Amino acid sequence: MWPDQKQLDDYLKRLQEIERRDHRVLGKELELFRIDEELGSGLVLWLPNLSIVREELEAWWRKIHRERGYTLVYTPHIAHEKIYQRSGHLEKYGENMYGPLLLDEGTQRFWIKPMNCPGHIKVYQSKIHSYRELPLRIGELGTVYRYERGGTLHGMLRVRGFTQDDSHIFCSWGQAQEEIGKVFDLALEFLSVFGYTEPSIYLSTRPEKRLGSDELWDKAEEALRTALGIREVPYKIDEGGGVFYAPKIDIKVHDAIGREWQGATVQVDLNLPERFDVTFVNEKGERERAVMIHRVLFGSLERFVGGLIEHYAGNFPLWLNWEQVAVIPVRESALDYARDTAKKLRAADFRVHLDEQAGDLRNRVKEAQQRKVSYMVVVGDKEAAAGTVSVRRRGSRDEERGVTLDAFIERIKKERDSKALPADFAPHEPTAGDSLA
Ligand SMILES: [Zn+2]
Repeated sequence: MWPDQKQLDDYLKRLQEIERRDHRVLGKELELFRIDEELGSGLVLWLPNLSIVREELEAWWRKIHRERGYTLVYTPHIAHEKIYQRSGHLEKYGENMYGPLLLDEGTQRFWIKPMNCPGHIKVYQSKIHSYRELPLRIGELGTVYRYERGGTLHGMLRVRGFTQDDSHIFCSWGQAQEEIGKVFDLALEFLSVFGYTEPSIYLSTRPEKRLGSDELWDKAEEALRTALGIREVPYKIDEGGGVFYAPKIDIKVHDAIGREWQGATVQVDLNLPERFDVTFVNEKGERERAVMIHRVLFGSLERFVGGLIEHYAGNFPLWLNWEQVAVIPVRESALDYARDTAKKLRAADFRVHLDEQAGDLRNRVKEAQQRKVSYMVVVGDKEAAAGTVSVRRRGSRDEERGVTLDAFIERIKKERDSKALPADFAPHEPTAGDSLA
């Protein structure tokens, strides 16, 4: 029962808000993604519109990682059973894995990769490394497959195949603290671009099902605690929440309506380096055990982008939007000028929809609004004569008339290149205890 009418109203309003933002509904309306039962449940088809969002995200991801000294690789999607025996995946994680695939008349058993770590270890071990080369940061947008029961699948948020923005940092024990700190700072900076602020930090400790000695776990947990301690960030302990090979820091974020989502994760691992004998040559010319830091920022691209759809309620920022500008001629006589306008916008690298259909202007404007285009540029004979455009921003009723095209392009270039949040993005007050992810 509700103590008063206002609380009931708030509750109902909130339910409405959640419904309005549902990524499965918006995904259909805006033609973003599809899950086809014949293709297989839990597997996401990225439709052309959302594929543009992903392309932009991936390009930016690659850029910021190269700038921060990461080296980017590709590794195979299936691997021999031997490697997952050595890594401990089959023993501790086997129930989440797909396989075996029988090759060479059944004499060779392969499994579909559930994680990218073993592949990155093999990349690291493709040669002997000196301490001078460390830390070595290996990154990949790596697609993995994990078994989830049918009943738990949920749109893009809980799936059976997804791409992780995975990185493994190989370093000495002495470098680990600083590297963890750098990842942590990068994660906060990264998440803030999307308007995810006020993160909650969790330190997740050793789970019951795990590899390695307590001594290694003590050491690894201590490294994470110290990295957080130096930054004086408040955090909570998630007892037993670590992965089977390592403890981790989880950064959880709050979306536009205050719900908590899984953000970035940093794990410090002393186990896999033991199992795979991962070493480097130290100052004394001796082989020394390396530390391995596993980390993701997006986590799963499917879940992250599914979350973004709800966070933005489908109103994507300009830099990510699949349709950035719609050019709409008032009537046919302005069509040539509209074509010319579209051409100039495309030359400035904008994704433009040119509306060439005849018909009622109001309907055409409404359709563009429904597609959630960032800007509408409306041109009539008057604009054609003056060489200007009329601009409407998504979410605003006002029309700005007599803007020169150059000035408009200049303005939206700034907005795009700074990855600004859209003007119609309005984060609500976070509500305590709301959790969905
Ligand atoms: Zn890993």
